[in-house]
Amino acid sequence: MWTWTNITEQRPTFVTHLECGLSGEQVPGDQLHGLSSAGRPFLVRYDLAGLGKSLSKETLAARPPDMWRYREFLPVRRNENILSLGECMTPIMPAPGVDGDLWIKDEGRLPTGSFKARGLCLAVSMAKELGITRMAMPTNGNAGAAMAAYCRLAGIEAFVFCPDDTPETNVREIALQGAKVYCVNGLINDCGKIVGDGKEAMGWFDLSTLKEPYRIEGKKTMGLELAEQCGWKLPDAIFYPTGGGTGLIGMWKAFDELEAIGWIGPERPKMIAVQAAGCAPIVKAFEDGAEHADLWPDAHTQAAGIRVPAAVGDFLILRAVRQSGGFAIAIDDETIFAARDQMARKGGLLLCPEGAATYAAWQAAVRDGRIAKDDRSILFNCATGLKYPMPGAGIPLDRHAPIDYGAMA
Ligand SMILES: *Cc1c(COP(=O)(O)O)cnc(C)c1O
Repeated sequence: MWTWTNITEQRPTFVTHLECGLSGEQVPGDQLHGLSSAGRPFLVRYDLAGLGKSLSKETLAARPPDMWRYREFLPVRRNENILSLGECMTPIMPAPGVDGDLWIKDEGRLPTGSFKARGLCLAVSMAKELGITRMAMPTNGNAGAAMAAYCRLAGIEAFVFCPDDTPETNVREIALQGAKVYCVNGLINDCGKIVGDGKEAMGWFDLSTLKEPYRIEGKKTMGLELAEQCGWKLPDAIFYPTGGGTGLIGMWKAFDELEAIGWIGPERPKMIAVQAAGCAPIVKAFEDGAEHADLWPDAHTQAAGIRVPAAVGDFLILRAVRQSGGFAIAIDDETIFAARDQMARKGGLLLCPEGAATYAAWQAAVRDGRIAKDDRSILFNCATGLKYPMPGAGIPLDRHAPIDYGAMA
């Protein structure tokens, strides 16, 4: 069978250096890095001219349909460090039962059932390449599950800290995939503090969102893939459920890199950051015209993946949203679950709550005129709906009594 790890030829990476997204501070690649000295995320920079010369759209088109087809855009140096659980390209399908030019990119098809697999596949592959043997992270569930899976594959010890109301499926999945999982009476930022404070005592590498440079590079493949699937013509709008913002920042970076090698033009989709009304720091900062977001007090929403009261990459999210002519929008939980139920009942597609939030946001934006129904819009369903609690159902039926078929219709 064909796998990347069987390819002995060593392709060069095109990484030139890492650069702080805020201050521009530069550090070498191929080394362990956390945050920059400004306390902000590093972004990986590439020799894009060299990359553009070494790869053609035709070569790319002939590769297997997975995340690693974008090998030249990624920082892993040696093929033997590529960890893979089958990171398939995910389908973009017409939103079923909806009147409008609306499409859904279904990321629930990825390993561990969420798009966190993209980021963690890359980050753990890099951790393996850089010789890390123990890692920890705070999570609302899906990132911890993906980290646990790839760490198992890499033989890296994993410690996961999640709020104690994280969906039970996630907690059990993390434990089954060999990580140690702690349920903390607090929110994700409280869990993040435990990870940060434990660095010295435990000697673990902190894999918190954007506190290391490589998760963005994995999430970037969403933008590369979307562009390729759209025939290198980007849609008018992208609705993205925004927690830490890795995916939104990653896609924005992907579009810049594709423009630099001449595969797309300067046009960009409106980037629309969707948050929950009970935790909407980016929406508030967007509306206030601020560069950074304040910590959101008493964060609450059942859309666990977007319950992120503070994001270290807030300014990068806000920049992308503003430069694209997009906006940030908050949706309350009742509307999120109504949108989930509507899409499942009418279209047969079970979205996760975060994905349902993007559908509700599209409906709201069409109503208030910020998006036209016929603008080509793509929603991100970022996890399988099966990972979340669902309402009880199933009508008891006694097979020993006469069955009243007439009452069933
Ligand atoms: C993590 C997560 C998000 C938020 O993703 P970011 O790129 O970190 O903003 C949204 N939905 C789900 C299901 C998630 O797991």
